[in-house]
Amino acid sequence: MGEAALEEYFVSEDCIACDACCDDFPDIFVMNAEHTRAKAVEKAPVGKHNPWDIVTVCPVDAISLVNMPMPEKPEGMEDKKEEDEAPVILGDWRKRWEAVKDQPEDQWERMKRYGMASSFADEGNHYTLIFDMPSQVPNHMLKYKWGLPDKMPDYDYSVEVVDGKRVRVRAKVADEKVKKLSGWVNSFPMGFLKEMVLDQAVKGHKESYDPETKVLEVKLEKS
Ligand code: SF4
Repeated sequence: MGEAALEEYFVSEDCIACDACCDDFPDIFVMNAEHTRAKAVEKAPVGKHNPWDIVTVCPVDAISLVNMPMPEKPEGMEDKKEEDEAPVILGDWRKRWEAVKDQPEDQWERMKRYGMASSFADEGNHYTLIFDMPSQVPNHMLKYKWGLPDKMPDYDYSVEVVDGKRVRVRAKVADEKVKKLSGWVNSFPMGFLKEMVLDQAVKGHKESYDPETKVLEVKLEKS
């Protein structure tokens, strides 16, 4: 009896290291040591998997079957995949993406992602520092494909006063799925660090964050 035919897969440089293929088909794919790109390390005997299940697990179409033609696509597969991915939000993600893809980026929203949408005021016995935190998940094809929300999930943040005169505000994307998008969208860092030196020393600070308006306010009480 001859050996079973083997399917050979290839991962292109479009891979965004989301782990999906490695999780679902660990007999074929592994992630590289830098966690930047998956690699097909084993061939799969024909019949073990449906090649369509393998290539469509990838959100950016980075996987292809390279040593034989793809079989005919199973009927209803597209619908099933979209239902599996995001039953409530996704719907027809391509249409949603097409409708917005030429919209210009809001500059203020972009500044928020760098901690630049902020103000600083000297108010006598205290300083007030205000940050508009990111409120919109930036537009990108993957946002729609992955069924991400329009409203930005709250960032994690921290405020630190060093030596009484140096204020550091750190913020970072907390939502794991949105974090993955950050590597794919221009001007979407994983977070920001803002540091400023005060004219007068402060003896304490209070911070408050409003999740509705996504405004972070820090009051710094002068010594
Ligand atoms: S599913 Fe696609 S994007 Fe995700 S790790 Fe595999 S090849 Fe890369």
